[in-house]
Amino acid sequence: MNVNAARYPLTKIVATVGPASEDPASIEAMIRAGVSTFRLNFSHGEHERHAEVYNTIRDVAARLGRPTTILQDLQGPKLRIGELEDDRPFVVTPGDQIAICTDVVQGTKDRVSTSYEHLAHDVRVGDAILIDDGLLELRVAELRFGAEWGDEVIAEVVHGGLVKPRKGINLPGSNVTTPSMTAKDVEDLAFGIALGVDMIALSFVRSPQDVIDAKARIGDLGGSQPLIAKIEKPQAVRELEAIVAVSDGLMVARGDLGVEMSPDKVPLIQKRLIRLANRAGKPVITATQMLESMIVNPRPTRAEASDIANALLDGTDAVMLSGETAVGSWPTRTVETMAQIARTIEADDTWRLAMQAIGDDIEHAESGGIAYAIANAAANLAHDLKASAIAVLTATGETAEHVSQHRPGVPILAFADRAHVAARLSLWHGLVPVHEPLATNTDDVIVQVEAGIRRLGFAAAGDRIVIVGSVPRAGNRRALFLECHHLD
Ligand code: PEP
Repeated sequence: MNVNAARYPLTKIVATVGPASEDPASIEAMIRAGVSTFRLNFSHGEHERHAEVYNTIRDVAARLGRPTTILQDLQGPKLRIGELEDDRPFVVTPGDQIAICTDVVQGTKDRVSTSYEHLAHDVRVGDAILIDDGLLELRVAELRFGAEWGDEVIAEVVHGGLVKPRKGINLPGSNVTTPSMTAKDVEDLAFGIALGVDMIALSFVRSPQDVIDAKARIGDLGGSQPLIAKIEKPQAVRELEAIVAVSDGLMVARGDLGVEMSPDKVPLIQKRLIRLANRAGKPVITATQMLESMIVNPRPTRAEASDIANALLDGTDAVMLSGETAVGSWPTRTVETMAQIARTIEADDTWRLAMQAIGDDIEHAESGGIAYAIANAAANLAHDLKASAIAVLTATGETAEHVSQHRPGVPILAFADRAHVAARLSLWHGLVPVHEPLATNTDDVIVQVEAGIRRLGFAAAGDRIVIVGSVPRAGNRRALFLECHHLD
């Protein structure tokens, strides 16, 4: 029972799963609406619940014949305030003073706690402290070490509002010294790897070393998952090129980025990061507030439609939904809206030209080896001959990724006989993984691929298709081939 993947946009949709969407019917509806990757957000939820959701996604995806990427998003060193007395939010107004302490207290208007024990060491008098994605702004007025409630930061309210339990703290001007992977992250990572997640996202990356360390940790835990670096700190923006070079993928994490820096900085950082990722041939996700108003409303704002369109034209591989699908009132409708906007943009010549420019701009043109060169040739052939689709036979996924990097502007069906390879490819621009055992003889495999393309609705009799792949040859050798023909 394959879903009709032919109607999906080439730009991928990532949906965060949460209470509004974690049941099998919602997962199925979101896949049918166009989701290719589900994000398990480890800032929330127990392991047991994540395991249930993981199994639901795998079951539904298998039943629909749609390999789907499962992305584990580690919380990272996110600073938070603690619990509040009776779990009751309270209002603070400009001029109020509130202490943030390291001892555990049930928070009130006078004092709230934080689990970040270095807070008083990392800020200076006059620094800004933002709470709840910057909705509340405080200024450090005084630091007290070894006080009655541990180390305390006394802060004056600049912009007031409602203080809610467990909300995030951002310190835009300060150097947070906490390690990039917390004890919770290490535990979550071991859990995610044992579960079998396809990709891992690291939050609050500050340096290339954070990425290198996390990848080593994945290896130590027996994993080989690609690592996506979430760019949401000014320190990361200062080292963007070096971070792109060591990461397997990138995320423009606009939520925290717009608080750690300021919203006016986000659009150009988004464009720069997407360009760097495209040039380096790494997948990139544009995230957060893409359809924020649809958490409550059934229709998007015009600005949101434009934002999605611009991310596509920038060259993002994927666009992500967070609260919209995790806790919103319209998870499936939001995915449908995103897919519809993407389909409209991708039908236009402006987008086609933007994709060609990305394909022409890839960095490693001369050093990429045979797989790279043949992928380049396949993309050019598809373009010159106006092919309806490209099929790639891929053992490790590498050739399929290379074709995607060239942005041929048509669907790329990646035939993979290993489930974990197929699942991983779903995040990449234009790739439609097809998981099935592949014939070993070239003639048979071509017949198989043609049948698959037809069955999935990507081409019909008379359409041109391009096929690229590697086939076994005598003496344990493999040969790459590239061909183009009309479907009978
Ligand atoms: C973000 O900050 O934009 C983001 C994607 O991270 P999270 O949703 O984990 O805060």
